[in-house]
Amino acid sequence: MHAISDFRSDTVTLPTPEMREAMARAELGDDVLGTEPTVNRLEAMTADLLGKPAALFVPSGTMSNQIAIALHAANGEEVICEYGAHTYNNESGALALIARAQVRPVQGKGGVMDPAEVEKLIRPKNIHNPRTAVISVENTHNAAGGTIVPLANIRTLHEVARRHRTAYHLDGARLWNAHVATGVPLKDWCTPFDTVSVCLSKGLCSPVGSVLVGSRELIERGRYMRKQLGGGMRQSGLLAACGIVSITRMIDRLAQDHMRARALAEGLAKLPGVQLDLSTVQTNILYFAVPGRESEFDGWLKRLEDQKVLAMYLGSRWRLVTHNDVDDEDVARALKAWQSILG
Ligand SMILES: *Cc1c(COP(=O)(O)O)cnc(C)c1O
Repeated sequence: MHAISDFRSDTVTLPTPEMREAMARAELGDDVLGTEPTVNRLEAMTADLLGKPAALFVPSGTMSNQIAIALHAANGEEVICEYGAHTYNNESGALALIARAQVRPVQGKGGVMDPAEVEKLIRPKNIHNPRTAVISVENTHNAAGGTIVPLANIRTLHEVARRHRTAYHLDGARLWNAHVATGVPLKDWCTPFDTVSVCLSKGLCSPVGSVLVGSRELIERGRYMRKQLGGGMRQSGLLAACGIVSITRMIDRLAQDHMRARALAEGLAKLPGVQLDLSTVQTNILYFAVPGRESEFDGWLKRLEDQKVLAMYLGSRWRLVTHNDVDDEDVARALKAWQSILG
């Protein structure tokens, strides 16, 4: 058990002792000058892991997604994504500001878009219409509950993208979780996409960092854009060293996060008034509502905190996330705390 059981997000994880050692030992250079051996190694390893020719280490998932979408769309062109997508809702309007794209959202089921519906939304070529430049998928889908977008759906959407010559992007901030939960190899998940963004700083414990992968040509242009956005870093091998630990040592253990989220969800679902759809608890995120009691949520936050449990509510839903820095005892403590509030 930890001093505080923090279920707010899988970004709260601290770098592991192995990461701190890797930072101390990292061979360093200057990445903007192209001579950062540890960053170069992380980029090569991630490209290889995801089966793409090239990779770019960036400070955040937001920058990674925005560079990718800007590579595919610009000047008011359109991106099709799911209604709850992070790129659309949680990147502070960057799609309009940085990628200068507009959004055509699709209401999915559990974060999964219907390919037939997506195809209908692709604009015919016409002087009045924005060009549909890119289809963007999120896997796992955060706002839908860390749900997995099935490979078959991803492949059908790829056919749609190909038929209409639109680019195809994956916001794979938690692609690792989809891989671990299904056993589908990372490369298979990535094959259909032109660009894939993955986060090292969520369940994989790195302090900072995401990686964008794609063709050499796209990544070269992306490197230029990263510099324009102020994301060119110097001795960033200190961070990349953690990233290397993330992708080599921290992926398989996500299975434990999934089991703990499941245990937590099953316990919470039994409490009076809790509305929790267990079918959406597929990885490390769970959401639940307690209809009619929203006005008490602020007070509940404090009562949880008194019992050393941190959680988060977004609108009318609570969100709890498991990660490397919560263990079985933290889960038991959280269940006890919720029982004291609702039981
Ligand atoms: C966290 C997250 C991102 C990137 O967020 P940053 O905080 O900018 O690193 C992108 N997509 C999804 C689905 C996320 O959950």
